[in-house]
Amino acid sequence: MKNTISRRKFLASSTALAAVAGCMTDKSASAPAAVQEMSAESGIRVRFLGSGSASWKPEWAKNPHMRRQSSVLLENKVLIDFTTCSFDKLPKDCHPEVLFQTHSHGDHYNPKAAVKSGVKRMYVQETWADAARQEVNAAAMELSLPAPEVIGLPFGKPVVECGMRFTGVPANHSTSRVTDGTLERTSLYLVEKGASRLLYATDTGGIMGDAARMMGIDPHVKEKNLSRYTASPYVHEPQALTAFIMEATNGDIDDDFRIFVHSSVQAVSRIVNMLIKNGRLVLPQGQHAYITHLGIKYRSWPSEKIEKELPEPLRAAYDGLEVVLG
Ligand SMILES: [Zn+2]
Repeated sequence: MKNTISRRKFLASSTALAAVAGCMTDKSASAPAAVQEMSAESGIRVRFLGSGSASWKPEWAKNPHMRRQSSVLLENKVLIDFTTCSFDKLPKDCHPEVLFQTHSHGDHYNPKAAVKSGVKRMYVQETWADAARQEVNAAAMELSLPAPEVIGLPFGKPVVECGMRFTGVPANHSTSRVTDGTLERTSLYLVEKGASRLLYATDTGGIMGDAARMMGIDPHVKEKNLSRYTASPYVHEPQALTAFIMEATNGDIDDDFRIFVHSSVQAVSRIVNMLIKNGRLVLPQGQHAYITHLGIKYRSWPSEKIEKELPEPLRAAYDGLEVVLG
């Protein structure tokens, strides 16, 4: 464990960040060394507000099988990505408090939707925080609504919000946004609550090695050889995920040119099976791994039709699906 980020160290930094962010229960404030005490309830409630990719036309909302742009609501309080097309999938009495952005592409990020959602805080990767702040403030001014605080989040540094711990890790995706000479880096999120460890992985072509090591799921890194990896401050001790959501933009089209920045169903299947085989994904009995951000081929297919083509343990998310993932 020497020179690696241990659970204790992770928790200490998450507590410090959470204190700055200000959304944290008294219980977790008084018990920084015990992640299991962040919430007594087990499992993370996930509602898919959108499970499709890129484009969206308002008239598509009439088709119950059409997939909106990808977005999830966690525990009825925290959004990951949000655009205007998903307002109608929010539960009626829901007032989300926090929004985490994976990246700034328009099918994930919309400053006006962020302001209208009423969130108080919005996290983006630190490389584009200044730009996001300006854009969100301008949207708030135009709408005459309060602007959420925009917080730049570095990779590998957890923050606690609403009883869950969020760690941004690098995605394999690319945008053309440059802020003060710095290229935007895009994020996946590890979400932890009690014993639950959920990876929300979109948009990304596969899972980068750095990201896998930050989450403790690179099978190269074992308890017995941890000392070999101590050169990096971002190597987490081996620890399994318990829940898995990943993009499958590419369907099963082998020559899809988006392979550098997106994943296929086969790629997700291979990653899931490899993680299970190596003990780095332990799904509770009967729980599936979900694909989302579905592209052209599956965009309008009912999930039952897609599932006939999916290998176990994959299932296709759909808009409005709510699951509690252990
Ligand atoms: Zn996207």
